[in-house]
Amino acid sequence: MRIDLHVHSNASDGTDPPAEVMRRAALAGLDVVALTDHDTVAGLAEARAAAGPVTLLPGMELSCRLDGRSLHMLAYYFDPDQPELAAELARIRDDRVLRARAMVDKLAGLGVDIGWEQVAAIAGEAVVGRPHIARAMAASGAIASPREAFTRDWIADGGRAYVDRYALDPARAIGLVRAAGGVAVLAHPRAGRDTWVTDEQITRLAATGLAGVEVFHPDQSDAERARLLALASALSLVATGGSDDHGSLTDYRLGGETTPAEAYRDLLSRRPG
Ligand SMILES: [Zn+2]
Ligand SMILES: [Zn+2]
Repeated sequence: MRIDLHVHSNASDGTDPPAEVMRRAALAGLDVVALTDHDTVAGLAEARAAAGPVTLLPGMELSCRLDGRSLHMLAYYFDPDQPELAAELARIRDDRVLRARAMVDKLAGLGVDIGWEQVAAIAGEAVVGRPHIARAMAASGAIASPREAFTRDWIADGGRAYVDRYALDPARAIGLVRAAGGVAVLAHPRAGRDTWVTDEQITRLAATGLAGVEVFHPDQSDAERARLLALASALSLVATGGSDDHGSLTDYRLGGETTPAEAYRDLLSRRPG
């Protein structure tokens, strides 16, 4: 079984529609794919309709903050209509719009006049985010390609036009996902300095009901994978993996990293109730 538990569509910041993601998943020979868009389940219905031979796992990647740092929490199998979870998702979504508008304003102050309407048009039905702003910047000629927006000069974390956003406490995120019948997996804890999660922090999250930790991720070195595997084993967490495919926004490709079948079954068995 080939299982990729971390994939994005244009329902958040990926470039491909959910149906196209599922078509590519089949071409990549995947058996199971979790669509894990940022803070939204808006792509799931289209993905389900286009799943074909691929088993679609409903998922989401929740934006959290721990001790002042950004942290991502993958969630699977939850009921998105559970009232508390649905209210929290609405709050995150509303805040993303306010935040994107604030970044567009800051860019204008730096001489990059892209206009909110253009950013909103690029985002379309998707949850608006920095990649949409980056594409508007490239279209305006301010930068040569969208990737160039993600520097300290522009909208990278801490950049001149960056604006912080509302984010969940990860223990609360775990509680919400569990209350909605799902399981939570800490995403890419060792992918980069800005989102580094320490052993101590992972240990604390494990005590609050975390089910797993993402070990097999393209941004995590072999050395960090080995450390995470040992920690996961010590804390009895499931070690998962996924490609973090974002379509043409990044070079990560569906099936580039996978979750072992045994880990997948273990994760399924940890659903509450
Ligand atoms: Zn992430
Ligand atoms: Zn992701």
